[in-house]
Amino acid sequence: MTFESVIGLEVHAQLLTRSKIFCSCSTQFGHTPNSSTCPVCLGLPGALPVLNREALAMAVKVGLALDCNINQRSIFSRKNYFYPDLPKGYQISQFQLPIAEKGQVEILIRQEDEVSAMNYYCPKSFGIIRVHLEEDAGKSVHSDGQGTHVNLNRTGVPLIEIVSEPNLRSSQEAYDYLRNLRRILLYLGVCNGNMEQGSLRCDANVSIRKLNSSSLGTKVEIKNLNSFRFLRKALDFEIKRQIRVVQLGGHIRQETRLWDQENGRTSTMRAKEEAHDYRYFPDPDLLDVNISTQWLQDLQSEIPELPGKRFSRFVEQYSLNEDEAFLVTQTRQMADYFEDAVKTYNQPKIIFNWIAGELVRQLKANDGDISDCLVRPSQLTDLIRFIEDGKISGKMGKQILERMCRTGEDPGIIISEEGLKQINDVIVLERIVDSILKENLEKVKAYESGKSGLLGFFIGQVMKQTSGQANPKRVNEVLLRKLGSV
Ligand code: ADP
Ligand code: MG
Ligand code: ZN
Repeated sequence: MTFESVIGLEVHAQLLTRSKIFCSCSTQFGHTPNSSTCPVCLGLPGALPVLNREALAMAVKVGLALDCNINQRSIFSRKNYFYPDLPKGYQISQFQLPIAEKGQVEILIRQEDEVSAMNYYCPKSFGIIRVHLEEDAGKSVHSDGQGTHVNLNRTGVPLIEIVSEPNLRSSQEAYDYLRNLRRILLYLGVCNGNMEQGSLRCDANVSIRKLNSSSLGTKVEIKNLNSFRFLRKALDFEIKRQIRVVQLGGHIRQETRLWDQENGRTSTMRAKEEAHDYRYFPDPDLLDVNISTQWLQDLQSEIPELPGKRFSRFVEQYSLNEDEAFLVTQTRQMADYFEDAVKTYNQPKIIFNWIAGELVRQLKANDGDISDCLVRPSQLTDLIRFIEDGKISGKMGKQILERMCRTGEDPGIIISEEGLKQINDVIVLERIVDSILKENLEKVKAYESGKSGLLGFFIGQVMKQTSGQANPKRVNEVLLRKLGSV
């Protein structure tokens, strides 16, 4: 029997507001434990929550970006459960009437063409069940031999939960979905997308069924997936495990499992018998959320061009190939940088090569990225222009860019200060070539008798004598002429 896997993801994203969702405490990561707290987020009796408008705006934008219906009236509910990191004994979340429902996201699935080894990108749509707002819980810190500590700084940090339809069909699709979702959140500027710090978290629901069957199998929920790699590994393991159970005549138990990275497997955390009944009910301390049509329109107008659209436009408008367009639209900052550069010098391909190659390399070497790059787009294109005009060589360009990345100086200034000029003058080059050939008569003879590899030696000598400033293409031409090869 052939099986297929069915996957649905529940993604939690921490919103980039400065204050928490129902109080004015700071959301900043890394403060002294329990210092960013107040009666509201500690759940002290009598303290009343007030919704953070910015958090609501961000949630609405995510709903709009994911093509959802926005509920102009939504409500907050209490989700009741006990845990030491949840001081109120309930989490304020949304159950009935979430912010947004019934959306979809179009994702570019990268596939490799086996013949050409080129990648191509197929758009595929996945349904979104809902997007809702909720508060985060605190954090239990388990330290060996010293018991467990609770840090409530995270309590009340705003989260959105994005729940996908069970439409994902493989671990790779789940991986691509999450990557694309993360990109959209980053483009919207609502989440920093950091999975290691827990700003973006993912629970995966997975079941198997007979290929092309229309009913759903019993699902298992996997928690503790704090990287893309773990998501893929955990799903691969779990799908195989479920198939093995069924093939051996067993049944899948509905349960929650944890990914155990050390042993590369999932293991039972709690079975359905212990599953929670959260006794959701509307929170009497909070008003209904009302979103006016005007505000909804305003928020819609603040949504930037999203990565999928930008990718297609870059292929069209700048004649980039799909791999290039995909790469340069990875982040909004990089795509903006590219477009700003093209505005000052209409050579998209050359600019792409510099950004994706040397600039990214330099930035990475210094643990930075394009958003803290000291080189302005117009400075990069000034540099490229010097090279294209033959004033400096590509190699010099790389050196100059290195200094630009450190200091933010204009390339023109660096060129004149370091006396970096390319020697293009054929008469000057001929003089240098003549003297080098004269000093190396034996090598000239060897060359003439067939050791053509010595050409590299001669070029090297010229470059050495000119401290790398000779135009290598011209040197090559002059040498070939002088050596009688043309
Ligand atoms: P629960 O009430 O257990 O949280 P939901 O219906 O809210 O379940 O669905 C949670 C997630 O699980 C969604 O992303 C959904 O797509 C996914 N899901 C639901 N049923 C299945 C299934 N049989 N197999 C895989 N994923 C599923
Ligand atoms: Mg659920
Ligand atoms: Zn607080």
